[in-house]
Amino acid sequence: MSLNIQEIRALFPVLHQEVNGKPLIYFDNAATTQKPISVIDALSAYYKNDNSNIHRGAHALADRATRYYENTRTLLQQFLNAREEAEIIFTKGTTEGINLVASTFGRKFINKGDEIIISTLEHHSNIVPWQMLCEEKGAILKIIPINEAGELDMQAFRGLISPSTKLVSIVHVSNALGTINPVEEIIELSHQVGAKVLLDGAQSTSHLEVDVQALGCDFLVFSAHKLYGPTGLGVLYGKRDLLDSMPPYQGGGEMIKEVTFAKTTYNELPFKFEAGTPNIGDVIAFGKALEFINHIGKKYIKAHEDELLAYANDSLSQIKGFNPVGTAKDKISVISFNINGMHPFDVGMMLDANGIAVRTGHHCTQPLMQRFGIEGTVRASFSVYNTKSEIDSLVASVSKIAKLKN
Ligand code: PLP
Repeated sequence: MSLNIQEIRALFPVLHQEVNGKPLIYFDNAATTQKPISVIDALSAYYKNDNSNIHRGAHALADRATRYYENTRTLLQQFLNAREEAEIIFTKGTTEGINLVASTFGRKFINKGDEIIISTLEHHSNIVPWQMLCEEKGAILKIIPINEAGELDMQAFRGLISPSTKLVSIVHVSNALGTINPVEEIIELSHQVGAKVLLDGAQSTSHLEVDVQALGCDFLVFSAHKLYGPTGLGVLYGKRDLLDSMPPYQGGGEMIKEVTFAKTTYNELPFKFEAGTPNIGDVIAFGKALEFINHIGKKYIKAHEDELLAYANDSLSQIKGFNPVGTAKDKISVISFNINGMHPFDVGMMLDANGIAVRTGHHCTQPLMQRFGIEGTVRASFSVYNTKSEIDSLVASVSKIAKLKN
């Protein structure tokens, strides 16, 4: 990695502004990361120079756009170490990836009495599609409990899993608490009973090396916007044999080989799951985000963020009234907390007044908040462009706010 932190920050135009008269400190990275200039420029360059529909065009622009679009698929195959590009499906995001699996794998392979296992840590997008499927099919949804630190109770998981389990759909890294789940063990135990495993990689793919062949997961879903890429775009990785065995998600152009009124045959992977004109410009721009990550290196990103996390934890834990929620041993750079006697929303508003952007509320994990008996938390989440001096400002502000009630 040849860039220092100031050079990295210089690549992100949005960071260089004032909010409420203070320099912006962006600590809402678990919600969405900021975009480097290369991503922003790629979007503009695509619409200025290359805009065209892809795959079928017999002209230069269509050919160029197709090559750039498919180049991002190649980058993703390498990024995840998937066996082949055909295992990379473009979606609208993590949410659509999970819904795709629920309605195709679910339609074909989940039957009455079958069991699906998720955990207390799940984002709503990894709860609701399974509730809908279970209701439709008469299947049963089981939940892995967690301990006070926000870690999965693996003993309980061993008790839940059985030959009736058809799918384990689990978050790799919790968005609300930052907990890194022991997914290797979960995958091994699930495969022992013949269950497939879907990993929600919305939070893990930006911080950790995720090698789908080494992990052996059957599906992995994530969103480009949490990896310095555009919003409304995501990826579903699936093992070829599984994707081949599943019915299509949506019908339309691109996903067909031949259509007659008597019978339609479906296209090969990955196109079978990419009906309609895709999000071409954003896919191309996402390629630049992946190049940015590759250039910086996941090792550097993780080491930098771990350092910020330890630094922030040390200082915040000294503050009277500071109450961390989720203190897993193995976690990414997310600090969820409450201040005794204060509503998280009020804390968030006061931090915003100091130019500090955090998330407040239930973080789309209401059952997790219910588990802790709280309405929500304040969540500060760090990224590659954050600095220790920004954390000093957070600590100073939280300290002042906490003094109001403690
Ligand atoms: N799963 C997790 C763990 C997340 O953090 C998020 C986004 O916050 C999602 C799923 C949903 O992602 P999207 O809204 O991009 O589909």
